[in-house]
Amino acid sequence: MENLVIIGSGPAGLTAGIYAARAGLKPLVLEGLESGGQLMQTRHVANYPGFAATVGGAEIIAAIRAQAEAAGVRFKMDVVEKVDFTGETKQLFTMMGDTLEARAVIVATGAGVTKTGLPGEAKFFGHGISACLTCDGAFYKDRTVVVVGDGAAATGAVNYLTRLGATVAAVLAPGAIASFEGDTALRAVRPADGADIAADGVFLVTARTPQTQFLGDALAKDATGHLVVTDQVKTSVAGVFAAGDCARPRHKQAVIAAGDGALAALEAAAYLG
Ligand SMILES: Cc1cc2nc3c(=O)[nH]c(=O)nc-3n(C[C@H](O)[C@H](O)[C@H](O)COP(=O)(O)OP(=O)(O)OC[C@H]3O[C@@H](n4cnc5c(N)ncnc54)[C@H](O)[C@@H]3O)c2cc1C
Repeated sequence: MENLVIIGSGPAGLTAGIYAARAGLKPLVLEGLESGGQLMQTRHVANYPGFAATVGGAEIIAAIRAQAEAAGVRFKMDVVEKVDFTGETKQLFTMMGDTLEARAVIVATGAGVTKTGLPGEAKFFGHGISACLTCDGAFYKDRTVVVVGDGAAATGAVNYLTRLGATVAAVLAPGAIASFEGDTALRAVRPADGADIAADGVFLVTARTPQTQFLGDALAKDATGHLVVTDQVKTSVAGVFAAGDCARPRHKQAVIAAGDGALAALEAAAYLG
């Protein structure tokens, strides 16, 4: 029987681990398929406190992980496929065939970027194609960008980027694009119909998908699949907490996820207390 199992090893899960270990809970972190989480996908983080110069996401994660290991957090490479939260003891069924039992659980499984799947996207994602205005908008001052998306999200993105001094050359729905073009850097967006649109950057403002499907209906979710929380981190089941992007429909940022992780661990400690 574990005291506390933390599902996810991004900024939320790792920070929850640090706080829980320091509270004497001997937490177990299940890393999932993406050890370190989304931040591992970027080489340019300029807004994480404590790193004055732009730094790779992997460096930030390595620093947080080293701190977690030093605090005594245990790690396991496994993926939770199903849960049973109906009893006081929480049960987690994993890809490796284990059934883990825990007194408390923190879900910190993040949210995936909904990509277009178009040619050139994989090559330039994180190096010219971004899904995060808050993270990367400021890199495009005095440069030209294309916004991919529609509705209020696209309008908001245009306003935000213009305010930062970028020129928005076009707003296109994913279906109107044939490919993303470039050599060592992104150079243009090729519409399905028409001439290439020169661009230094592309912002995907398509929806993000919280990684909560494996929970089935064990926890309350909103219409977009984000976990519903009260007091910022308490889910619909006592003893199960949520932290980071999986429970944040707005403002998906590493520092916010880390803060949620700390709060979830403190609430878990209070619950177990
Ligand atoms: C390209 C890119 C650039 C970014 N740049 C910045 C930036 O500059 N500044 C910034 O603040 N934010 C940035 N972000 C956003 C930031 O990375 C996220 O807000 C942050 O990582 C969220 O942390 P999290 O711990 O909630 O989730 P994640 O980092 O997504 O971690 C989720 C974890 O859960 C695990 N997991 C998922 N499902 C399961 C399961 N079923 N079982 C077990 N484990 C599971 C995954 O393996 C992963 O370890 C960027 C994101 C991307 C994609």
